[in-house]
Amino acid sequence: NTPLLEIRNLKKYFNVDGKQLMAVNNLSLRIEEGETVGLVGESGCGKSTAGKTIIRLYSPTDGEVIFNGQNIVNLSNREMNKLRREMQIVFQDPYASLNPRMTVEDIIGEPLDLHKAATGKQRKQRIKELLELVGLNAEHMNRFAHEFSGGQRQRIGIARALALNPKFIVCDEPISALDVSIQAQVVNLLKDLQQKLNLTYLFIAHDLSMVKYISDRILVMYLGNMVELTDSDSLYADPLHPYTKALLTSVPIPDPTITRERIIIEGEVPSPINPPSGCVFRTRCPVAMDICAQAIPEWKEVKPGHFTACHLYE
Ligand code: SF4
Ligand code: MG
Repeated sequence: NTPLLEIRNLKKYFNVDGKQLMAVNNLSLRIEEGETVGLVGESGCGKSTAGKTIIRLYSPTDGEVIFNGQNIVNLSNREMNKLRREMQIVFQDPYASLNPRMTVEDIIGEPLDLHKAATGKQRKQRIKELLELVGLNAEHMNRFAHEFSGGQRQRIGIARALALNPKFIVCDEPISALDVSIQAQVVNLLKDLQQKLNLTYLFIAHDLSMVKYISDRILVMYLGNMVELTDSDSLYADPLHPYTKALLTSVPIPDPTITRERIIIEGEVPSPINPPSGCVFRTRCPVAMDICAQAIPEWKEVKPGHFTACHLYE
């Protein structure tokens, strides 16, 4: 079967003061229709850049993004604009991403106007529908974004992303800026919407706490590189990569029969302008070996459907 998205060796480099910053290095991933792939890593690991590059808010430095059978990397802006309807993004910070002086109607109506998707009565009707879909109501239409709580604002952001009936949505840390008590509500809303509308998600998160409840599979990234990929259950039950293991020990586990000793990852994330030789995690890895400085570990299927890049498994 053809996946909705196939990403092959995607690279995104930025130029910073004449030096190359490797934000995303060789990302390869298939995402099936209706699937949610979680993308997890510390801030600065390239996950937002990856999400934005996949939907071409950034143009890739190299690699392919095949969406619905079509390589979108070299599409003209005009062609890409048409496809934009199908690929949307929900941003991390609903305070920063919604203009507080715009009404809800204008915020949600903006993509409809840009794409000439609905006018007049139809437009109003569509906005009303969208508000109801995300658990708000039609009376909210004339109010301003600043009148809403963080959770409500994120619902508005989601309604805007849904306005054009997309197939694929990058959820870029949609709950990180929200109170813990609100996070589950937004995750549940996203899950419901996925069922109703047959959506496919890339769900970006900086830790492994909520991502399990929404993701079918999880990809862990470190310093622009893929370090581990498998289904959610296997990732939590049987993490392979030392970085994943450390990330997991910082997450409270609801199952009292599982005890994990906390692994603290020492030191800072190295600069992506000057990444370590060999394994990018080696400067912080508690079990690094000599070979880790010399050779880049290969991306390898260690168990069926469970991939990692680490010399421990070679
Ligand atoms: Fe640690 Fe070496 Fe594995 Fe990298 S390759 S995660 S440094 S053991
Ligand atoms: Mg980010």
